Amino acid sequence: MTPTAEDRRAPLVDTFGRIHDNLRISVTDRCNIRCFYCMPEDDPGYLPRQEILHYEEIARFVRVAASLGVSKVRITGGEPLVRKDLPRLVELIGGIPGIRDIALTTNAVLLAGQARDLYNAGLRRLNIHLDTLDAARFQRITRRDDLGRVLAGIEAARAAGFPVIKINVVAVRDLIEPDIVPMARFGREHGFEVRYIEFMPLDHQGLWDRSRVLSMDQIKAMLEAEIGPLDEVPDPDPRAPATEFRWADGGGRLGFIASVTKPFCMNCNRLRLTSDGKLRYCLFAIDETDVKGVLRDGSRDEAVAEVIRGNVRSKWIGHQINTQLFVPPPRPMNAIGG
Ligand code: SAM
Ligand code: SF4
Repeated sequence: MTPTAEDRRAPLVDTFGRIHDNLRISVTDRCNIRCFYCMPEDDPGYLPRQEILHYEEIARFVRVAASLGVSKVRITGGEPLVRKDLPRLVELIGGIPGIRDIALTTNAVLLAGQARDLYNAGLRRLNIHLDTLDAARFQRITRRDDLGRVLAGIEAARAAGFPVIKINVVAVRDLIEPDIVPMARFGREHGFEVRYIEFMPLDHQGLWDRSRVLSMDQIKAMLEAEIGPLDEVPDPDPRAPATEFRWADGGGRLGFIASVTKPFCMNCNRLRLTSDGKLRYCLFAIDETDVKGVLRDGSRDEAVAEVIRGNVRSKWIGHQINTQLFVPPPRPMNAIGG
């Protein structure tokens, strides 16, 4: 379909009226640890390097997306810090007119050596993935012995001056219960906002089952029984995926991403670019739109813009995770970008 002049100027609105201004960029499908709910223990069959977008290609994509109204970017993976010279990408994206917010999601294993350079490149928001403070449990979940490096990474991020550090905890039932309260206490003690993320069907080995999801309501009840009451915080941006709470005693905030028990599809404002240049309108999307082709075949920016508009136009109403229509996506979390 040929875009009209009005289409060309329009923000990225889908057929359900949702405006898309938020882009998640996966910079690699590689990872240095092996969380069982994301990756297999053995060779995951990584993408060949020539398939991965270069930083300049990513930056061009973001420039076009920003011209269509995208203003928030999150860099993720795989593990983004295994990609060489990530601060350069942060700087490139930070310099694009219209981009007003850049965040990074990382497992923090390599953060100690990179926190200062990332901060100096302009990054201010970090989500650090850490499920447990117990070394043996960390090893069981990630199949690696790296808890000390993660804690050193968190410390380095604090020393570098990051004002916002959130901690992601994946809530797998019959596993993570002993860590729920210690992680909340860790957040209260250090001023980190802990976010409990319901286990989603995105693991490499197909281990997900609804019975393995520890729900937001169950976690909240555990926290209130052990620590004290939580008050819901009205969200200034209702499209943000987390439901936020504040400790009634002044002990800071925490959040839940209840993608399974309380899906937020009708508020979704996100697009995802995979490391091999596919555009996805949903974490659970089955179809993807190729962008790498138009980035590499000499096409003009308008062709890139039309690929983005087309992907948004085709966005489904939601992932139907609570119905029999749900189909898990063909790619696991590390290859999509969480
Ligand atoms: N490696 C980085 C990390 O672990 O933060 C960035 C990529 S990882 C795919 C992004 C986030 O996805 C992680 O922080 C983790 O909380 C979340 N995650 C991974 N697998 C998940 C699953 N099956 N269900 C829910 N969340 C998951
Ligand atoms: Fe790696 Fe992040 Fe997946 Fe864990 S969740 S295996 S750290 S990509």
